[in-house]
Amino acid sequence: MLGNFSYCNPTKLYFGEDALENLIVELAKYGNNVALVYGSGSIKKNGIYDEIMDILKSAGKTVSEIAGVMPNPTVHKLYEGVEIARTHKVDFILAVGGGSVVDYAKALSVSIHCEEDPWEKYYARFEEPVCEIVPVGVVLTMVGTGSEMNTGAVITYPEKKLKIGHVFTDERIMPKFSILNPRYTMSLPKNQMIAGIYDIFNHICEQYFSGEDDNTSDYISEGLIKSVIHSSRIAIKDKNDYEARSNLMWSATWALNTLVSRGKSTDWMVHMIGQSVGACSNATHGMTLSAVSLPYYKMIMPYGVRKFARFAVNVWDISPDGKNEEELAKEGLSAMEAWMKELGLAMKLSEIGVTMEMIDDIVNGTLIMEGGYKVLSKEDVRKVLMQSM
Ligand code: NAP
Ligand code: FE
Repeated sequence: MLGNFSYCNPTKLYFGEDALENLIVELAKYGNNVALVYGSGSIKKNGIYDEIMDILKSAGKTVSEIAGVMPNPTVHKLYEGVEIARTHKVDFILAVGGGSVVDYAKALSVSIHCEEDPWEKYYARFEEPVCEIVPVGVVLTMVGTGSEMNTGAVITYPEKKLKIGHVFTDERIMPKFSILNPRYTMSLPKNQMIAGIYDIFNHICEQYFSGEDDNTSDYISEGLIKSVIHSSRIAIKDKNDYEARSNLMWSATWALNTLVSRGKSTDWMVHMIGQSVGACSNATHGMTLSAVSLPYYKMIMPYGVRKFARFAVNVWDISPDGKNEEELAKEGLSAMEAWMKELGLAMKLSEIGVTMEMIDDIVNGTLIMEGGYKVLSKEDVRKVLMQSM
């Protein structure tokens, strides 16, 4: 049965090749002191930086730059951004980049006026902000996280070997607007593109592989996954195929804008293990997920075999004739494995720099969530990791 829920998603989206034209209209709604947040320079190489600077100038904004936001942004970078934003009395944050930049901007938005240490408050105690929140706008350049339309903000504390995602309940943390131009994603290196594709796929799986109820969300999820598989195959052959790029971009937003999780339980253990892998290795997010997925799904499959059988039939078009649920479930996971290999994803942790010495820390840093078909023990987490070494 679909559980009770509330749903509100206040992020305004502008989608398409001309989407950036709307930035000037949006900027007019916010204050004069803008913090431009971006990564390590991809936006300078592909020209997006210059275009945005021109728009900011035409809008008469005073711009301070918070540059060099790294993939898997750290708490130290957050502290640095808070100092810059306070010095320049920032009243609007414009994030231009991928999920790391967008997550960082959201974490910054609740930290600038926070009187406590933001790590302790938001990432150790998972509290909600009580201070003023600086509004965030987004120009997205990498597809995968869904951060453009949700409240999630993942921050890493390297010395503590922790990578923690806080999915805030306060919807004021969602970006005020997000500008999505599929063309921007064409300059992504292939490994980032496929990592992003797997992130989308796994976000949907994390919400799908939980519960046995008949609900609309699972039908939507199956459609979304099919669209991702279809477009991924086109995108890896032709990186400039606009239709595939736009379908992937839109699927990524749908996959994690909280719509498909309404009224149902969710899992998130692949992300919990993957994030802990990321904390210890700094590996690319999507690859941490791909490397642990199959051992994890094989472990939980016997506890949710009916859903895995449905996945095989409805997503991978496997004929159910003459097969029992377990056989179907296994065939579905084999089809998924073949697709992952076709894309070129990391299938083993050893491929992404994880060493045996890291395993204890990864196990210790994994948060256990309880919505999946089996509640994992720390020993189960170790088994999943070891099967991927
Ligand atoms: P990312 O870390 O934002 O970016 C990865 C790399 O891609 C960076 O080196 C970046 O370079 C480059 N890049 C971005 N756009 C590009 C473009 N158009 N052309 C060329 N290079 C480009 O990747 P991401 O996967 O989007 O974000 C990962 C982070 O999001 C992780 O910390 C993950 O845990 C988190 N996450 C958040 C959520 C959520 O719900 N909020 C969900 C899943 C994951 P530059 O630095 O030069 O820009
Ligand atoms: Fe993710």
